[in-house]
Amino acid sequence: MVLTFDDGYADFHGTVLPLLADYGATASLYVTTGWLADAGPERAGRPLGEMLGWGQLAEVAAQGVEIGGHGHSHAALDQLPGRSLHEELRLNQELLEQRIQRPLATFGYPFGYSDASVRRAVRGQGYRGACAVANAFAEPRQGPYALSRLTVRRSTGLAEFCALVQGHSLARLYGRDRLLTRGYALVRRGRRLAGRVGLLSAN
Ligand SMILES: [Zn+2]
Repeated sequence: MVLTFDDGYADFHGTVLPLLADYGATASLYVTTGWLADAGPERAGRPLGEMLGWGQLAEVAAQGVEIGGHGHSHAALDQLPGRSLHEELRLNQELLEQRIQRPLATFGYPFGYSDASVRRAVRGQGYRGACAVANAFAEPRQGPYALSRLTVRRSTGLAEFCALVQGHSLARLYGRDRLLTRGYALVRRGRRLAGRVGLLSAN
C-alpha cells in the first residue's frame, strides 16, 4: 500500500507527519508550488486552505516523505495548450528540486486529470510514474503513468478505511464516482477537441 497526499496543505506537517513517525510509515506528497504559503513572486492559483511553507516542506522531505510534482498552479493539465502545460510542469519541478535538492520521481495529476499528451509531457520531464484518481486499485496494465488511487475522504471512518485497504466494498463506496469519472472524461475530451478546432479555424 502507498499513501499519497496532494497539494501540500499545512496539516500535512502538523497532523500527518507525526502520525507517519508514530507508525514508522512514509508517504508521497504531491506539491502545488504556486500555492505554498511563502511562494512569493511565484504565487499562482488559489488554495482552499492554509498551505505548507518551504521550511516545513524541507522538514517533511527530511523525514523521508517522497516529494513529487503536482503542477505549479493546480491547473487541469488536460485543458492546457502545449506551452502552458510544459510551463506548469517545468516550474513546479524546478522549484521543488532546487529546494529539496534531489530529483523528483513521481507526479500526481491535479484533480487526477490526464490524457495521452499530458502523460507524454510528464514522462518527458523525467518522471518515472504518475498518479491519477479513478477510485480503483492500480494494476500493471495501466502502466506507470496512470496509476489509480482510492480517495480517502474526511468522512472515511476507520472501518471503511480498513475495508478499502483490503479491497472490500470498492463498488459500493465508489460506484457512483467511477461512473461520473468515466462520463466526465468523455466531456473533457470533447471540450479539448472543440478548443483545438477553434484554434485551427482562428488561424
Ligand atoms: Zn490537488
